[in-house]
Amino acid sequence: MSATPEHETAIHVFRKVDFKITTEDVLRAMKIRKVAPSLERTTATLVERAMEVARPKALCRVCYVEDRTEDSVTIEDQEFTSRVLRQNLDGIQRVFPFVATCGIELEQLTVDRTDLMTAYCLDTIMMLAVQAARRHVQHFLQDTYSVGQLSRMAPGSLQDWPLQEQGLLFDLLGDVQQQIGVQLTERFLMIPIKSVSGIFFPTEIRFESCQLCSRPNCPGRRAPYDAALSARYGV
Ligand code: SF4
Repeated sequence: MSATPEHETAIHVFRKVDFKITTEDVLRAMKIRKVAPSLERTTATLVERAMEVARPKALCRVCYVEDRTEDSVTIEDQEFTSRVLRQNLDGIQRVFPFVATCGIELEQLTVDRTDLMTAYCLDTIMMLAVQAARRHVQHFLQDTYSVGQLSRMAPGSLQDWPLQEQGLLFDLLGDVQQQIGVQLTERFLMIPIKSVSGIFFPTEIRFESCQLCSRPNCPGRRAPYDAALSARYGV
């Protein structure tokens, strides 16, 4: 059996993700129709402070699918139970588990969190930071491993894949807390709260978990619900 090349077993850690945003970026992401001058001032001040401390981070690695059943897939000794993941990885050997975070520095920024607009504004900046970190991983993987389109799934994003399997995912990625400061709680939630995890996999047709999720009025929806597709996946 041939050995896996060393660069394919390494965990890639990114502690200096490029992150630059403007007041306009944040106001746009907040989706407020009429922006009062006071909100614009609050946002500008927060953006300036956030830019001084923000350190979005991420890590990822290459893994290989070792086994499959009808509703599970084993990746380097970790058996993930998800009918949808199993079908998405049909014919795929190489996958890319990852965690990305806005970083503890932003989460610990001292602001008046009792002021709803200030809290919402900071929350939005943190969301933009974690998105930058996740995009950084995606572009790194596409450039480094010459993969085309990537889709991703995360434990807990659908009922089909239990949140508890976040623990298995973290086990694939070494000491995530020590590397990028993301802690997994006993209830399998991540701290900082604006962190994302999952498995990137190559796809010809873009897949979003939202296509299989009928939750109404979800502010995070990335694709419309597709009942026919859900039926095809059997969920
Ligand atoms: S619609 Fe909302 S809850 Fe459903 S998978 Fe998408 S982001 Fe998650």
